[in-house]
Amino acid sequence: MPNFSLSDSVFRAACEQYATPFHLYDERGIRETARRLNRAFAWASDFREYFAVKALPTPAVLRLLRQEGCGLDCASYTELRLAEACGFTGDQVMFSANDVPAEEFAFARRIGATINLDDITHIPELRKNGGIPETVCLRFNPGGHFRVGNAIMGDPGDAKYGMTRPQLSEALATLKGYGVRRFGLHAFLSSNTTDESYFPALARLLFETGRELIAESGLTLAFINLSGGIGVPYRPGEPQANIEAIGEGVRLAYEEVLLANGITGVALKTELGRYMTAPHGWLVAHVTHEKRIYKHYLGLDASACDLMRPAMYGAYHHITIVGRQGEEEKVDVTGSLCENNDKFAVDRMLPRAEIGDILVIHDTGAHGLSMGYNYNGKLRCKEVLYREDGSYTLIRRAETPHDYFATLDMDPVWTRLNEEL
Ligand SMILES: *Cc1c(COP(=O)(O)O)cnc(C)c1O
Repeated sequence: MPNFSLSDSVFRAACEQYATPFHLYDERGIRETARRLNRAFAWASDFREYFAVKALPTPAVLRLLRQEGCGLDCASYTELRLAEACGFTGDQVMFSANDVPAEEFAFARRIGATINLDDITHIPELRKNGGIPETVCLRFNPGGHFRVGNAIMGDPGDAKYGMTRPQLSEALATLKGYGVRRFGLHAFLSSNTTDESYFPALARLLFETGRELIAESGLTLAFINLSGGIGVPYRPGEPQANIEAIGEGVRLAYEEVLLANGITGVALKTELGRYMTAPHGWLVAHVTHEKRIYKHYLGLDASACDLMRPAMYGAYHHITIVGRQGEEEKVDVTGSLCENNDKFAVDRMLPRAEIGDILVIHDTGAHGLSMGYNYNGKLRCKEVLYREDGSYTLIRRAETPHDYFATLDMDPVWTRLNEEL
C-alpha cells in the first residue's frame, strides 16, 4: 500500500515561499491515485472516472486529472462553467444534480454533458430546458437500508436523492416516448467507505436493475455509474481501500450479471471525489496562540472557514507538528471563529508545541477548502500545488476583503469599503 505523506521538509519549504494558512496538494499523489484507479478498472469497456468537482474545484487540479483521463461530475451551473473553462465538454462531463433549478439543464445540454436525472419530475423540465438527449442517466434510490451481508452500508430510505424502482420504469417509458435510445443507471448508497464489498454490491444491484430495465423498456443500457463513496483512512491505522480488489469484485459482478446474460458493451463510470484527492492535501498553518484555562488550547492562523469537516461532522483529521515528536500532551486545536465548534481537534494528544510551530492537518484534499465559508468575515485561505519536480505553485490566492465586500456593490458604503486603509 502506498504511503501518501510528505516529509516535514516539504511543508517547511512551502512555508518559506507562502504565508500560512494554505492547503498544499501533492501532484504526484493525485496522479498516482488516478492511474491506480484506471488500472483497477482497465478490464471494463470504456471506463471513466468523473471526478466530483465539489471535492476540489481548483482548475490546476482539474486539469491534471484531465491529463490522467478523468472527466468531471458537476452539480451546479457554476461547476459546469468551471468544467467547460478547464476544457471538459461532451462525454467528459456528468451533471448529477438534486433539486436542480430547471434552467441549469440548458447549459449542461449546451456543453454536451450527460444528464443524470435525480427525479421523474425533471423530465418535463429537461424537455423545456435544452431538450431530451438520446442517452439519459437515471439516479436510483432503492430505499430502506443498503446491506452487504449483515452490515448496513447506508440508509437510502432517508436520502433525498434518486428515484424509486417503479419510477425508474415509468421514467424510461416516458423518455422512450421522447426519443431516448440509451440509458445509464447511477446510485450513491454509502459514503466514505473503505470496505471493498461496497462497490461490487452496488454494481450487482445496478447491473441487475439495468438488466430488468432493458427487458422492460427495450432500450440499450449504455453505462453503469457507480458514483462516489469510496473512503480514505483519516485515522492512522485505518485500512486503505483496496482498489484492485474493488475493481476485481465489480468485474465478477459484471461477468455474472451482464456478460453471462448476453449483455455486452455496457460502459462503467465512477464519480469519486474523496478517494482521488483527500489524502493528497494538507492544511498547513502556524500555531499563533497558546491558552491555558480549564483546558489547554493551541490557536492557529487557520479556522473552520478553511476546513469545515471537524466543525460540521466532528470529523477526525490527523494532525502533526513539523519537527516535533516525543512527549505528548492533550490539547484542543482551534481557529479564531466565535463558534465553540471551531476546533480542528478536541482532547488530542500532540507533541509539545510552541507558538511559531508549523502545524499540519492531514487529508484535506477533498471537501476541504471547497466546503469553506466566510463566517465572522473570515477569508478563505490560498491553495498551493506541490509539483512533481519539487517546486511549488500558487493555484488559488487567499480571499481579500474586496472579495468579501463584492456583493455589496449596490450599497453606498461599497466605495468606502474598497478604499485601502
Ligand atoms: C459528493 C458526490 C460524489 C463524490 O463523493 P465522494 O464521497 O467524495 O466520493 C459523487 N457523486 C455525487 C453525485 C456526489 O454528490
